[in-house]
Amino acid sequence: MYRTRDCGELRLGDVGREVTLAGWVQSLRKFGSISFVDLRDRYGITQLLLGEALNEKLAVTPLGREFVIQATGIVSERSSKNPQIPTGEIEIKVSQFNILNKSATPPFTIQDDTDGGDELRMKFRYLDLRRNEVKKNLELRYEINRAARNYLFEHRFMEIETPFLIKSTPEGARDFVVPSRMNPGQFYALPQSPQTFKQLLMVSGYDRYYQVVKCFRDEDLRADRQPEFTQIDCEMSFVEQDDILLMFEGLIKFIFREVIKLDYTETVERMSWEDAVWNYGNDKPDIRFGMKISNIKSPLKRKGALEADGHIISKGEFKVFDQAETVLAIAVPEGASWTRKQFDELTEWVKRPQIGMQGLVYIRYQEDSTLKSSIDKFYSEERLKSIAVFCNAKKGDAILLLAGREERTRKAISELRLEMGEQLGLRKPDEFKLLWVLDFPLFEYSAEDNRWVARHHPFTAPKPDQIKLMIDNDPNIPNPDDYLQHPYADIKANAYDMVLNGNEVGGGSIRIYQRELQEKMFDALGMSREEANHKFGFLLGAFEYGAPPHGGIAFGFDRLCAILGGSESIRDFIAFPKNNSGRDVMLDAPATIDRKQLDELSIQIKN
Ligand code: ASP
Repeated sequence: MYRTRDCGELRLGDVGREVTLAGWVQSLRKFGSISFVDLRDRYGITQLLLGEALNEKLAVTPLGREFVIQATGIVSERSSKNPQIPTGEIEIKVSQFNILNKSATPPFTIQDDTDGGDELRMKFRYLDLRRNEVKKNLELRYEINRAARNYLFEHRFMEIETPFLIKSTPEGARDFVVPSRMNPGQFYALPQSPQTFKQLLMVSGYDRYYQVVKCFRDEDLRADRQPEFTQIDCEMSFVEQDDILLMFEGLIKFIFREVIKLDYTETVERMSWEDAVWNYGNDKPDIRFGMKISNIKSPLKRKGALEADGHIISKGEFKVFDQAETVLAIAVPEGASWTRKQFDELTEWVKRPQIGMQGLVYIRYQEDSTLKSSIDKFYSEERLKSIAVFCNAKKGDAILLLAGREERTRKAISELRLEMGEQLGLRKPDEFKLLWVLDFPLFEYSAEDNRWVARHHPFTAPKPDQIKLMIDNDPNIPNPDDYLQHPYADIKANAYDMVLNGNEVGGGSIRIYQRELQEKMFDALGMSREEANHKFGFLLGAFEYGAPPHGGIAFGFDRLCAILGGSESIRDFIAFPKNNSGRDVMLDAPATIDRKQLDELSIQIKN
């Protein structure tokens, strides 16, 4: 037997027992005629005491960091205890040890505050995985996985695997393709998600499906994306939107309770996509804090919404606002007392290329009720006061205003709001706030192709009362500049996203389940009948054999882990992640393959 106990479990109560431990040498300290070894395994660290006799053995066969050893001895109370670790009150008085395997000197120290840089640790990921930090993350990941499975099992979901080698039908992201040796010139694709399979499973009658599943998307990798990532993918039959929302907020609440011991008793807030964009500038608002956007001027028109343009600010006073398509503001608590320098820094911040604004206008609403601004030259104090009132500012606030093109300005103010929330400590890492965002537009306009594209995916149903709008109208866009006037621009999807602390953690929809409507959808997306049949004939066919009403959702499992683990990066929660350019630096993949393999695949490389 290699070991009788592990390195994390022995306590004072075990004193006197003989045990055998096996693990890695974390550190070795010599004190005259005795030595101490910190022995590490997955469960913890235990101190070994090697007395005089063994010390002599050490002189002949020295130990080094990361050697794998086995040691037998008696559990003893330590004279100087270490309260930092659970086994800190005991040590093992070793009677005998064996070296099971030697180790080369590791390229970085394997401890909590390591000296290894990112790339190096990625290259030696199997060593990095020995570190507590990384191990904790994988443990959390597994706990979340288990909790999710338990919940879904309790609710009679069945996990069913679906294939990885499928047909390429890119929509949205690009597919990864796999050549088929046996079918020269033909390719499989790796699934971007099991979407069509889970829908087919509904047609087959498996009315509650889930799968913890890898998905593959060949996207340009933005900051924190991975070309392969994991979803908790779910689908249900005979459900309406509300059934799905309740079932899956239940799942997340269950995970909260089981994993982070958080009893989330509040009702999960629901917000329309329009409200999210109007009030927060994006479709995944962090609602841990307020600081809503004030729409001073915007081409987005909303029923009943108040705009300052025309009655609070008027033309001819300040050219920048006159000329801007959009003027948006937020009122930031405590901002009135900021120094000039602080405002200058903030101005630089919004001018960074990632934010892309020309400048920042600010108004200080001072404690003595007076107002001072960077545009005093243009606006009277009275005017500034009305803006402050419009923005719901309080004394002591600073009002920050951005002006420019709609899309960019809205995005910028949303970033600025988050930055202010961050600076004011309003985005507390241990506070969790769930939100459903609903009623997304069904279509988005692609200027590049002058056609509609599905905002979610082409299997998403319109809201029931808007199906007619889709059927009755021609998808053609005669005048691209006026696409917003097209009836399709107003059709809302029966779709929902779950947002947690400003991150989209899940998204799904009620699906189309009738062949005619699905065909109409493909039409709307500019797909010919032949193309639709070529790509999705199997699904259209299946819809002719009694497809039940159904809907589902998929959660980004890596992201969920990162948020619950209090981290920004999903990479930290993946055992073997890729770097920001999609490379596996440990395997050195992707890589070329040899001539023979290429020949077998009937593939010729250009150039
Ligand atoms: N398959 C979808 C996705 O990956 C999620 C869903 O609609 O269930 O985004």
